[in-house]
Amino acid sequence: MGHLIPLREFAKRLVLTHNFSVTFIVPNNGPLSAGPKSFLDSLPVGINYVLLPPVNFDDLSNDVIRAGVALTVSRSLPSLRDVLKSLVSSSRPVVALVVDLVATEAFDVAAELNISPYIFFASTAMTLSLLLYLPKLDESVSCEYRDLAEPVQIPGCTPVHGKDLLDQVQDRKGGTYKWLLDFAKRYSLAEGILVNSFRALEGGAIKALQEEEPGKPPVYPIGPLVQMDGADDGSECLRWLDDQPRGSVLFIAFGSLGTLSRDQLTELAFGLEMSEQRFLWVVRSPNDKVALSGVNDPLDFLPNEFLDRTSGFGQVVPSWAPQAQILNHGSTGGFLTHCGWNSTLESVVNGVPLIAWPLYAEQKMNAVILTEDLKVAMRPKVGENGVTGRIEIAKVLKGLMEGEEGNAIRRRMKDLKDAAGMVLSEDGDSTKSLSELAQKWKNKIYRL
Ligand code: UDP
Repeated sequence: MGHLIPLREFAKRLVLTHNFSVTFIVPNNGPLSAGPKSFLDSLPVGINYVLLPPVNFDDLSNDVIRAGVALTVSRSLPSLRDVLKSLVSSSRPVVALVVDLVATEAFDVAAELNISPYIFFASTAMTLSLLLYLPKLDESVSCEYRDLAEPVQIPGCTPVHGKDLLDQVQDRKGGTYKWLLDFAKRYSLAEGILVNSFRALEGGAIKALQEEEPGKPPVYPIGPLVQMDGADDGSECLRWLDDQPRGSVLFIAFGSLGTLSRDQLTELAFGLEMSEQRFLWVVRSPNDKVALSGVNDPLDFLPNEFLDRTSGFGQVVPSWAPQAQILNHGSTGGFLTHCGWNSTLESVVNGVPLIAWPLYAEQKMNAVILTEDLKVAMRPKVGENGVTGRIEIAKVLKGLMEGEEGNAIRRRMKDLKDAAGMVLSEDGDSTKSLSELAQKWKNKIYRL
């Protein structure tokens, strides 16, 4: 969903502002789950989708299947070719094939059919800069990146320690790393890369990305593209927010996949209680073995009587909450986030200050952007046992919601919110970047 949502926003702009029509071509390995299915079924007018025939992994061992996304794309290439061929022979010219950031293998088919290949990069300019740099880094470093004494200097970015780089580069002998390197090498074949970011957020990385070099495609910063349909879905937690004072509630959520260990969940619960801050928490069952005891309700993992003790100032929601609406609600005054890029952008467009709690993928790099570059987030320290303790949690929560540092962070976040509004305005940078690309595609129509 983290990739589909910004893609839909991108497609909407192409349709509404530039009069293109868009077709989503969706590889898969079986029936879609409810979320993506209803997402695709409710795409707005002008955006269609084609579900490719499901690919089959019956011939493979479980180990190989782990790189499922890559294999799904590889094995879908013949059916992708068929769909593209039929689009090419229809009455409307095909100006581009825009692929998700992991699907550059589809470029081979685009080349066969003479369609211009593009990438939609639903993450940071920093991660994009890392991926473009990765082939060089791979040649110049022989050890694991986490064992490097010096931090890694990704072009245009604050240096980051190897252990904080993308999860997928943490085991260079593993299949995932080889797959990543392989698809990153194809980035140079793109005619352009669209990135969901903007200068006030990632000025250094974007500048470096836009410096012309042989083999480096033009980069178009077109963000922040976030879910904008803030309709109230009638959730109880939104009603609860209605009754809270303005800017008083800390929202806690870890994206679509994030989970904590049982010990960490317990510390977070006690930390929230000790902080005495109003909170709204999306609680998931813990991810460690102790959790697999046949208990299914995430709320059963909370400390005894936690719900009773906090009922006067806190609300918990099991597993999933309407995040975009919550961040847009006037009562929300802070967000403890796993630093997923969509969550980050949703917070930025609503001016909600952050507590950075990165978990997986590129989130530790995002935390560096938020805490060190932009200074719009506080980051609790992790204890020696790998768990962040309740006292530290309570201190950071209070600091963000009530302290001086929290106020400074809130002001900087407000500036970022204003900057986000500007870049998407009629003559803002991101609007212009997209128009430039749209013009390039329109010129192509006359040549086709
Ligand atoms: N989200 C939501 N409710 C939840 C958790 C997540 O609506 O309880 C949405 C969130 O608003 C965001 C997306 O799921 O649009 C998560 O994307 P992100 O890039 O932040 O993290 P990922 O899930 O990709 O790690």
